Amino acid sequence: MEHRKLVAGNWKMHGTAQSIAEIVQIAAAVPRGVDVVLCLPATLIERAARAVPGFTIGAQDVHIEAAGAFTGDVAAHQLHDAGASFTIVGHSERRDGHGEADAVVAAKAIAAMAAGLEVIICVGETRDVREAGRAVVTVSAQLDASLTPIPPTAVAYEPIWAIGTGLVPSLQDIGDMHAALRERLVAAYGEAGARVRLLYGGSVKPGNAAEIFAIPNVDGALVGGASLTAADFLPIVEAAAAA
Ligand code: PEP
Repeated sequence: MEHRKLVAGNWKMHGTAQSIAEIVQIAAAVPRGVDVVLCLPATLIERAARAVPGFTIGAQDVHIEAAGAFTGDVAAHQLHDAGASFTIVGHSERRDGHGEADAVVAAKAIAAMAAGLEVIICVGETRDVREAGRAVVTVSAQLDASLTPIPPTAVAYEPIWAIGTGLVPSLQDIGDMHAALRERLVAAYGEAGARVRLLYGGSVKPGNAAEIFAIPNVDGALVGGASLTAADFLPIVEAAAAA
């Protein structure tokens, strides 16, 4: 099934009020035929949503609960209230840095959907797992355990060793992983599983975006470092629109 591509930027813990100009520049130049979301630090969501009405803003994480004594956390409906319409859950920097297991990721995705957010669930293997030849089986199991009763908008395959390193799996390895994940999604959701967009993430840059978007079952990208500037992000968005 052909999908309209989705390019999601993950700003991680970058950006202040000064960065709004960059977001305005990105929003103004998105071509037709591609969906784009910028997943911003919580502090920038409302400011960005006001600066670029109609442009899709996302969050990077949500809390499982809707309210309560959770110092420093942000609930999904608060992010929605601030202007987010998407969120990432299960990024490896959350799984590893904050000990989030698959069940927590699934619970976060359920909380996000209940608050009206579209969800990108991230999965990916370590370098050791890749080198041991266990990447497909490991990531497939991780996906099965992270899924929600209702299909998410997107699943992002992000090999941990490729995030922020400049390393990228071979095109064949990306294709093999995406084909396996598509099978898991169809097994879980039937026809609706064919509609979940499968994003690749890990050192996507203007120079490699077109070849990655040409791989079967790659329906877009989750982009970290290269999403921070219009100069790097827009060529990736344009490559997705042209794919
Ligand atoms: C990410 O943060 O999800 C990511 C893929 O980062 P980068 O593009 O910098 O590798």
